[in-house]
Amino acid sequence: MEILVAEEAGFCFGVRRAVKIAYEALEKWEKVYSYGELIHNNQFVEKLERDGIKTARTMDEIPNGAAVIIRSHGISPQEEKELKRRFKVIDATCPYVKKSQKFASKTLRAGMELVIFGDRNHPEIMGILGYTQGSGIVISSPKEVIGLPFNPKRAVISQTTNDIEDYKIFVGNLMNTSEKLTIYQTICSSTIEKHRSAKEIASKVDLMLVIGGKHSANTKKLFTACKRLQPRTYHIETAEELDLIEWGNYERIGISAGASTPDFVINKVVEKIKEERNGRGKKEG
Ligand code: SF4
Repeated sequence: MEILVAEEAGFCFGVRRAVKIAYEALEKWEKVYSYGELIHNNQFVEKLERDGIKTARTMDEIPNGAAVIIRSHGISPQEEKELKRRFKVIDATCPYVKKSQKFASKTLRAGMELVIFGDRNHPEIMGILGYTQGSGIVISSPKEVIGLPFNPKRAVISQTTNDIEDYKIFVGNLMNTSEKLTIYQTICSSTIEKHRSAKEIASKVDLMLVIGGKHSANTKKLFTACKRLQPRTYHIETAEELDLIEWGNYERIGISAGASTPDFVINKVVEKIKEERNGRGKKEG
């Protein structure tokens, strides 16, 4: 059995950067809080908690005098203002998300309606909506664009973690709904590379594993992109879930992982597959 791990599996640039900023803050400040989970991965959030970086789901959970980290997804300008009024704020918003926020402000100033291809419940999108003062429209799939009323001046952005091929279809469908459509390419290069390398692997293996938090949006999108090419694609969060998979006599196993999946989780999965393989070899011998 051969195991192929995609080149870009695991932490992306923005997540690595946010984690580094959080640990640097820990050296300077006594109490450090992340406003929302720093990354969408339970195993890593537990590690952060053990190391002293706490997660606060609301501002009221944060004690006075604490340093607060804005995670890579960013937040709305209204929330940021309030956070800064009450605490010492350390901004770890990913530069790619910042770019989307700037485009959102720009379209608002230009009097254009902003259409966002993404998930309205995702923190990145909720933050960006704040930059449109709530006037942006969020649409989660290319199909839903059909039927959108005509608007002469529109702009469009995508959530940073969408598949680029889906965004092309989304934009194509949007063309008919406006006279002047401004298109921003806001999918980050880390996502583009991750999807490219995962799809390359998925198309040449017998079984594909996508590792990442069950509530991680970017992992789910990576899983969907791989499943289109390899129907035997499974989304697992930890090595323990390998026991639930029907292994068969497959020769090549492919692995990729979401932007919020730490290396130690990926390595554990690879090790467990190797162990199982050796175990089977011994039994067969
Ligand atoms: S997925 Fe892309 S935009 Fe999101 S944090 Fe990572 S690098 Fe930044």
